[in-house]
Amino acid sequence: MSKYNPYENMLHVLDRAAEKLQMQTNDYEFVRHPERELTVSIPIMMDDGHVEVFSGYRVQHNTARGAAKGGIRFHPQADENEVKALAAWMTIKNAIGNIPYGGAKGGIKVDPSKLSPRELQRLTRMYVRRIAPFIGPDQDVPAPDVNTNGQIMAWIADEYSAMRGQWEPGVVTGKPLTTGGSLGRNEATGRGLMFTLENWCSKQNEQMEKLTMAVQGFGNVGSVGSLLMHRHGVRIIAIGDIDGSLYNPGGIDVEAAYIYANSHGRSLKGYEEKGSSFIPNTELLKLDVDILFMAALENQLHNGTMQEVKARVILEGANGPTTEEADAYFAEKGIEVLPDVLANVGGVVGSYYEWVQNKTGYYWTENEYNDKLQKNMKQSFEDVYAIKEKYHVTYRLAAYMLALKRVVEAQNTRGFLG
Ligand code: NAD
Repeated sequence: MSKYNPYENMLHVLDRAAEKLQMQTNDYEFVRHPERELTVSIPIMMDDGHVEVFSGYRVQHNTARGAAKGGIRFHPQADENEVKALAAWMTIKNAIGNIPYGGAKGGIKVDPSKLSPRELQRLTRMYVRRIAPFIGPDQDVPAPDVNTNGQIMAWIADEYSAMRGQWEPGVVTGKPLTTGGSLGRNEATGRGLMFTLENWCSKQNEQMEKLTMAVQGFGNVGSVGSLLMHRHGVRIIAIGDIDGSLYNPGGIDVEAAYIYANSHGRSLKGYEEKGSSFIPNTELLKLDVDILFMAALENQLHNGTMQEVKARVILEGANGPTTEEADAYFAEKGIEVLPDVLANVGGVVGSYYEWVQNKTGYYWTENEYNDKLQKNMKQSFEDVYAIKEKYHVTYRLAAYMLALKRVVEAQNTRGFLG
């Protein structure tokens, strides 16, 4: 496998988008560089009394369209480069969703499964103290990502509010309902992926009930997305997580698998159903299905795995699951990629709705929330589709073109170039 640099990957697509739009380097050079990159050291007293120092990151990529916005992940492989790429993807994504945010991302290099709940809470709070001068409801608004959840968001809101001397729920989204969260937010990314597939089906004259699917990743995004698509008739024949992949050619009972995973630490380990067997994770990517739903991590479809893919469509729930090389290969083979920056935009659009409710203090019903989400996802898809058709490019390139145009327009109108 060639050395993978997600930020370089992002830049190459951005440059191609600019070229198609006939933009000069001068017009968009600022988007190629993050506005602010923060690295912090986070010392924690572990339960046994020894001190450990963790590295944390927060990157604000671009704020031309509004406050920086993007999740925080806790992962042993989190580093500056990964967080930088994820932050840039948020700039692109927020522009596609047409919400008033720039892009950011954060992370701590840690395996949270090795920490006790108290250690996890101390780590989260200390991270907030380190980055507090740079975040805020109108400055930079974090959210959950890999291995972070509503509880962690509640600790972030609490720590930040303690420092400000007043309750500031809008500093972070993805909070539990008891602390200013929104109905619908927990499911928003998965629901948005279902809407993306629905929008693609309506353009292609395809029916969800006739599609088969394999799913890599059964966490927040993968499990909710699969469950909703299953309810719309998609036959899901494989789902996999870090512990292995469940295969059932007759179709997995996703309702049962969802309930099992949620009551077993979000893992499918030990789950059984009639007609199913466990297969190695690498086999899941090779299955003969219509849709391969990627919902784990970046860099999964690369030059070591791409040739084996038999799916017609890749649905990117995860951020960056397809490398540049694999993307070009799929385009050449006629395998359609519904890219992360469009397909999973429901997560951040849903976060925006939570933030709006926090700011106004008026809370919506779940139906109101889901209706607005559906409308936004339809509009985002249509906007990207129009460019795809006009310029005869892939969904990914069209999405970047749309985003780049919107970010550059905002930057030019504000005129805040130095
Ligand atoms: P999560 O931690 O809830 O779930 C990740 C899942 O991937 C788990 O089931 C894990 O077991 C599985 N996994 C990890 N490594 C794997 C491997 N090598 N093979 C197979 N499975 C593996 O995380 P999440 O919040 O669902 O996020 C998943 C992806 O979606 C990430 O790329 C994230 O950036 C992206 N995303 C998340 C949101 C959100 O709202 N949570 C929004 C947009 C995008």
